[in-house]
Amino acid sequence: MKIQLYNSLSKQIEDFNPIRDNIVRMYSCGPTVYNHAHIGNMRSFLFADLMQSTLRNVGEWDLKWVMNITDIDDKTIRGSSFESEAWLPEMGEQTSDRLENLRNFTNYYKTLFLEDIQKLGINLDDFHKIPHATDYISEMQELIRKIFKNGYAYISEGSVYFNVEKYSQAENYGKLKKIDFSNFQKGVRIDADTYERDDANDFVLWKTKKDGEPFWDFELNASNLPGRPGWHMECSTMEYEILGLPFDIHTGGIDLQFPHHEDEIAQSKAGYGIDPNPFWCHNEFLEVEGKKMSKSLGNFYSLRELLDKGLDPLDIRFAMLMAHYRTKYNFTFAGVEAAAKARQKVQDYIYQLFEESSDNSINEIPENKYLPNTFFGEIAIDLHTPKALSKLFEFISNYPAGKLSNELKNDLKQVFVKINSIFKIWEIAPKPENNVLIPQEILDIAEQRFQAKKDKNWTLADELRSKITQMGYSILDSKDGYEIKQND
Ligand code: AMP
Ligand code: ZN
Repeated sequence: MKIQLYNSLSKQIEDFNPIRDNIVRMYSCGPTVYNHAHIGNMRSFLFADLMQSTLRNVGEWDLKWVMNITDIDDKTIRGSSFESEAWLPEMGEQTSDRLENLRNFTNYYKTLFLEDIQKLGINLDDFHKIPHATDYISEMQELIRKIFKNGYAYISEGSVYFNVEKYSQAENYGKLKKIDFSNFQKGVRIDADTYERDDANDFVLWKTKKDGEPFWDFELNASNLPGRPGWHMECSTMEYEILGLPFDIHTGGIDLQFPHHEDEIAQSKAGYGIDPNPFWCHNEFLEVEGKKMSKSLGNFYSLRELLDKGLDPLDIRFAMLMAHYRTKYNFTFAGVEAAAKARQKVQDYIYQLFEESSDNSINEIPENKYLPNTFFGEIAIDLHTPKALSKLFEFISNYPAGKLSNELKNDLKQVFVKINSIFKIWEIAPKPENNVLIPQEILDIAEQRFQAKKDKNWTLADELRSKITQMGYSILDSKDGYEIKQND
């Protein structure tokens, strides 16, 4: 099916087709691994997952999907430093080697991150590669040399900066977001990786070594400049090295449009001489009470916190996918509860497709009402999940499973397999016989835990939960009680 996507470059919905060999090459800006990712971050990875699964299953293309791990930046360096209060015993002993500490610190959070996204239904086998920035330092240096040789970079006090003024005379700087040049000041340079205002300034490609930081030697223009790369440099290099330029689609949260993505374009053009990719796709924010969820505002939940409150990660996935990726999504517990109910409604319908019914009166469905046409027709236009889901719910109420002919039921099972290749939250199987008997011992511990929770004895409640987990069961809390499930 033809796929159309909103392109942040043209600000329009455009037909999408891969550039070469019928393979889609897609790069997603990945996490900075210095802490637990919050569920606002998760929205951007769920969006990327929705994109890749739609391109594969609806567009029917092969896909190379790359998501980087930012393991070197101001925050990871701070977290892994000798003075860091964020260093945990689980990360091992700190050594005198700062780079080794950085790797141990970031690997710890990378592992947790990968566990989290898998809980949210993202399959690691769908990635072509999940590269670490620190594995591409010499390639980054190569790109900086190219930019320097082409005259768009200069050295100042041991760091290397991108010459925005010179670049903007030759190229359009501000393709993704209108950039305010009115405040442009010659000689004002930005060392920080992120900044808030849309002002044009020379940005850093390579930062000179600071005391206490890991660093790499770097030969440029016959001098050695020990230091480390700027953040934007990381993505430009890994895209080129792993996917080749131009690749097809770049994804990320809307806050990355400027400076991160604008600077990626400028670096690729100034160094490799190529615009990196024709499609830029950005997700809107997940908000809490009208504000972007972010660590700096302190209004964030990690996935783990939500799971500890008894939420099912697949309900969280569904809640986020129920909103279109280009609209702001206001996170609430009521929203997740509504998603859980909607998810169950569809699940019950699927179970019924596997049951024998005496009434088979519906044996034909008009083409324009048939689920594959309506549902995928909406997904194919800029991944419009809410419109597609409204077609799904309309179908479910117009064509009750208990009245469908066996032939239609069989067809629909296949349709749901395809729908679920995108949503990944349903079981396409008969309803399981509920004959798994929970042992009395587990029931007793669960009851003690429920009591402990009522008594606000959280330590005991947590201990009892771990005991149940160790015995192969899990407890799912609900508003009025709990449910016990045997683990797979
Ligand atoms: P970071 O780990 O900070 O580099 O961010 C990882 C991804 O999360 C980026 O694509 C960000 O744009 C995205 N992001 C950060 N905060 C939010 C939010 N509140 N809602 C949606 N996406 C976000
Ligand atoms: Zn990036």
